[in-house]
Amino acid sequence: MTSVSTTTPGTDWEYAPSPESREIVTIQREYNLFIGGEFVPPASGEHFTTLNPATEEPLASVAQAGPADVDRAVASARKASEASWGRLPGRERAKYLYRIARAIQERAREFAVLESLDNGKPIKESRDVDVPLAAAHFFYHAGWADKLGYAGFGPDPRPLGVAGQVIPWNFPLLMAAWKLAPALATGNTCVLKPAETTPLTALLLAGVIAEAGLPPGAVNIITGDGSTGAGLVGHPGVDKVAFTGSTEVGKEIQAAVAGTGKRLTLELGGKAANVVFDDAPIDQAVEGIVNGIFFNQGHVCCAGSRLLLQESVADAVLDRLKRRLATLRLGDPLDKNTDIGAINSRPQLDKIEGLVAAGEAEGAQRWSPPCQLPARGYWFPPTVFSGVSQSHKIAREEIFGPVLSVLTFRTPEEAVAKANNTPYGLSAGVWTEKGSRILWMAQRLRAGVVWANTYNRFDPASPFGGYTESGFGREGGRAGLAAYLDA
Ligand code: NDP
Repeated sequence: MTSVSTTTPGTDWEYAPSPESREIVTIQREYNLFIGGEFVPPASGEHFTTLNPATEEPLASVAQAGPADVDRAVASARKASEASWGRLPGRERAKYLYRIARAIQERAREFAVLESLDNGKPIKESRDVDVPLAAAHFFYHAGWADKLGYAGFGPDPRPLGVAGQVIPWNFPLLMAAWKLAPALATGNTCVLKPAETTPLTALLLAGVIAEAGLPPGAVNIITGDGSTGAGLVGHPGVDKVAFTGSTEVGKEIQAAVAGTGKRLTLELGGKAANVVFDDAPIDQAVEGIVNGIFFNQGHVCCAGSRLLLQESVADAVLDRLKRRLATLRLGDPLDKNTDIGAINSRPQLDKIEGLVAAGEAEGAQRWSPPCQLPARGYWFPPTVFSGVSQSHKIAREEIFGPVLSVLTFRTPEEAVAKANNTPYGLSAGVWTEKGSRILWMAQRLRAGVVWANTYNRFDPASPFGGYTESGFGREGGRAGLAAYLDA
């Protein structure tokens, strides 16, 4: 499969294909559960198949963890919490975390290729974003492990015990790092459940963790579907639950955990406003808009999925945005030239198609650059809706795909009112030359993260999380440690 430029053939420079070799990765035919430091078959003997979403080709058969396996994993984490990992001094825990971070760096290409195969994201993103950031999270938290007594949580903050962690499919390795690194740095043990459609990099990470010599049971990785996740978060042996995923499932988890005394953090959906003022540097803003919504096919909880343009520059920005979108290359995720990869699963593609149909039915104007989609696999072209009003479904619901809804505003007050007119509150972007306006906006936008003249920037030192239907709790930075400490 090759990448296809969205420009009209023959009218522009064509790139020669530049595929990354998949030879670097050995994908096993079958994967088991990582419990107590070793790979063990599931009690039921059941497995499910994970696919390459770009080709629909089966990649591997992966264990389905049932209640007995969840029990086993939680018991193994409890044992490590009481007898080994939970008793190690911070300086010892740090050594293991540094070792994991270095191993991720050393095997970066392997992780990147596997991530792109299992998730569908372009190799340039898995190579330049997911994998380096995953290593950075382990490095950053390794640095904290022996300094927790100086972090403002009292002289001797204690771990909570066993963390049950459930992650989604949009950043499989990175979300595993976001969950495991702070939990381990603070002395907790973990049972992690990756998403059903993207379990492979978490299982490769399990191998890295085993090689790093962590005490058995410090990290357990159990694969399965939503029922495995529900079994884990509901397990009485879990002290802390950390979840990233949909608002709907987040609410179910909150209800399941209520009254149990378990600590909970939820990182859920978003419908972020990316606000462009008339004094913004337009070319940079256009790059930020593209990065905001088309990075990772728009499968990003903090995606800038609502573009708010100041009316006086709206036409100019839209024109330039369309010209820029015509240069994006959609196709083979392993091609280093590819900008837009595959949609992660058939159900996700159905959801995007459904919401886009609703946008058209409600009267918004749909536009995509000329774009040939590959015949097999799950694909959706970069899409822009203009003429969107706040009541439209595509302005209110998380599409989680490469679809941008464009609205306009006249005054800063109107921009704030429209940006905040959402049940979510995860992120926002502001594009303007005026520093004072950035601060004015940041004070008024109800969002956990506000980016100024940039978008989708992540750093392990910077706390990330939302308000209202986007969840609660922070991941990253000193604030992220608090979620794993009894302080
Ligand atoms: P889910 O919230 O269903 O999945 C996230 C994780 O939770 C997966 O590991 C999933 O397992 C697991 N899970 C599912 N049901 C339960 C449950 N009852 N208890 C505990 N864990 C559970 O997201 P989807 O993959 O279904 O995506 C649906 C929509 O959610 C997307 O279209 C998007 O809008 C939004 N989403 C938002 C994300 C974000 O980062 N904010 C991330 C992913 C999705 P399994 O994979 O086996 O279903």
